[in-house]
Amino acid sequence: MNALRQRNTVKTITTHYIDGTFVESHGTQVMDIIRPTDGQVIGRVTLGDEEDTRRAIAAAKRAFAAYGRTTKEERSKILRRLHEAASARIADLTAAMVEEYGGVAQFAGLIVASGVNAFLAAEKALQGLPLTRSWDRTTVTLEPVGVAGLITAWNANTLFICLKLASAVAAGCTVVVKPSELSSLQTQVLLEALHEAQLPKGLLNVVTGLGNVVGAELVRNPEVAKISFTGSVAVGEQIMREGAATMKRVTLELGGKSPTILLDDAALDQAIPKALAIAFLNSGQACAAGTRLLVPRSQLDAAKRALGDAMRAVTVGDPANPKTAIGPMVSQKQFERVQAYIRKGIEEGAEVLAGGEGHPEGLESGYYVKPTVFVNVKNDMTIAQEEIFGPVLSVIAYDREEEAIRIANDSKYGLHACVIGRDLQRARRVASQIRAGRVVINGMTDDAQAPWGGFKYSGVGREYGRYGIEAFLETRAILES
Ligand code: NAD
Repeated sequence: MNALRQRNTVKTITTHYIDGTFVESHGTQVMDIIRPTDGQVIGRVTLGDEEDTRRAIAAAKRAFAAYGRTTKEERSKILRRLHEAASARIADLTAAMVEEYGGVAQFAGLIVASGVNAFLAAEKALQGLPLTRSWDRTTVTLEPVGVAGLITAWNANTLFICLKLASAVAAGCTVVVKPSELSSLQTQVLLEALHEAQLPKGLLNVVTGLGNVVGAELVRNPEVAKISFTGSVAVGEQIMREGAATMKRVTLELGGKSPTILLDDAALDQAIPKALAIAFLNSGQACAAGTRLLVPRSQLDAAKRALGDAMRAVTVGDPANPKTAIGPMVSQKQFERVQAYIRKGIEEGAEVLAGGEGHPEGLESGYYVKPTVFVNVKNDMTIAQEEIFGPVLSVIAYDREEEAIRIANDSKYGLHACVIGRDLQRARRVASQIRAGRVVINGMTDDAQAPWGGFKYSGVGREYGRYGIEAFLETRAILES
């Protein structure tokens, strides 16, 4: 009964986090927060406006005067405090991601854990990063760039905020975060957690609001030196264009249409479930999702049978159930986007091996889609070129290894890729020819010190480890005559 009452409570958020405290919003627009499993209103958030944003920027600027001069040791101490504070709320952060976003419990737990761990990973990277180098009469130092605007997407809220914050704090920057307005409840839990770290006032400021209001002010404001953005190509382009007026430094983490290359020595019984796991990562709402599966033509029939079998084990439903593989899409808009792409795939002549249009049976009230596998896909079809951001996999046949590499690289994107095969030397040789920021061999894996970011339209710059910290630094040389 208690749990039920809790579920039906509408949470209200009217504050932003500015200068070390929760302050009432100057903005007045109120937005409903909708639960994606059933379309019910579960919260109401007051959206920030330009004035809230300017107050947050001013607080970050004041804090930068002192924080920008801190030592590695002082920053390390703060990173450890942030880690401790976030660690204390892992269960609540995961529950909020499951409820507000519809993230499946297994994956939400991993995402939250990697966000929380980002603070320790940044501390480790900072220790290994020389901030001063000298020779002869020259001294080169790496200086924090200044106030940073961190603008994030809705599909892994805790991870994006923690990762960007950790890198900025390690570099000596102060920040204003603009999370996705679709992640307001998750952001509130995270803020309550991080408040306990007792940071210097103004180091962390967070204003929830619309992209074209709060985000645009961060991009345009001359007091903001750097924008670190995770989101769509369209908004990334706009940020680059509009940030140029104030010479913003930018890191852009954008979309993907990542290939998984099955080499002809891969064991299909293991390779196909791995390929599906990468394709349907985070219910398909993942920038790294391997949504193009490249299969040797000689094995196409066997691969189709294996895919058909493996798809029967892919469960869709309540994201809170730890056995569920795929939850709902985040919103009605995202549901419709995925439906439109499935329709387009059928119109363009691809064959539906599993899934298709509409809701899965019995899940009509939420934003659930049918996980879908298309075969007979040509790489120039819309479903093979555009990012769908849902659980839709396109299977493309190839004849020779060089053709697989050519198809893999025949994309405007270059974020992530996977190569699966038994002969490791050969898999490495193929991986080294893929134009993507990260290539994993024989299944999804991660390394918090390895760079993350894209070639081509997948973005500009890198995050994680020392690469992420360097993105918040300027280089200064002092030369004595
Ligand atoms: P989006 O671009 O619509 O929004 C991202 C953020 O930008 C939000 O906070 C939004 O409010 C803000 N924004 C919107 N308009 C703005 C403007 N004019 N100025 C400043 N900020 C603005 O993206 P989304 O729908 O939230 O996320 C999905 C996209 O994110 C997908 O394309 C996905 O591939 C990408 N993504 C990339 C990565 C990566 O690491 N490369 C990770 C996750 C998601």
